[in-house]
Amino acid sequence: GTISAGPDGPLRAKSMIKMARRLPADIPVRGEDIDTIHSSSITLKQIEQLADRVRSALEDASCLGVVITHGTDTMEETAAALECMLHPEKPVVLTGAMVPTKDRGADGPDNVADAIACVGEGSIARLGVVIAMHQRLHAAMEVTKGHTTSTDSFTSGDAGPVGWVTPTAVEIVRAPMRLPLTSTRLEQHVALVRLVAGDTGRLIELAAGDGARGLVVECMGMG
Ligand code: ASP
Repeated sequence: GTISAGPDGPLRAKSMIKMARRLPADIPVRGEDIDTIHSSSITLKQIEQLADRVRSALEDASCLGVVITHGTDTMEETAAALECMLHPEKPVVLTGAMVPTKDRGADGPDNVADAIACVGEGSIARLGVVIAMHQRLHAAMEVTKGHTTSTDSFTSGDAGPVGWVTPTAVEIVRAPMRLPLTSTRLEQHVALVRLVAGDTGRLIELAAGDGARGLVVECMGMG
């Protein structure tokens, strides 16, 4: 994603750690590269592989938690999938950038530093998987990307963020919604259909005819 857009091509994890400002001195950080892709092309298999890697990292007693840098386009989907598949008891924090790291005003370095600071604040584990962007913490099952270009693009709607990252502390302001779902695998063939004015239901028939194992239908208003 945008966070890996460095001056000489895609940045590796080690460079992202180096570029982070205000890194807490007492938290040892180790970088690992998994995939360098546009998050718009991530597959459910890749999300499962990421979940497997995060699970085994968390099982290591010396690991305090995991930070994942991710493109913003599908970050909320990976976050929700990890929350359902892992239900982690240690911090798992996703972060990214809206401004390419090679450009003026890049937000990636601060976001990475904030995400690492969140792992250092072990109590955020009770929030489940979170997204740290623009000094705000959002819970995986509540967050969505709400703006295409603004650095303040992630939102938890009317409920607001679950926490804030200040220069000196990580503050948790409320408990998030967490679902008791746990499955280590994702169903690969689920269709999402949004109803619109003039809808004939044709997309639902097409999805069912195409062998969808499930259908999520985004309906209108109060019915
Ligand atoms: N297209 C990018 C992505 O991989 C956008 C971003 O990272 O903000 O999601």
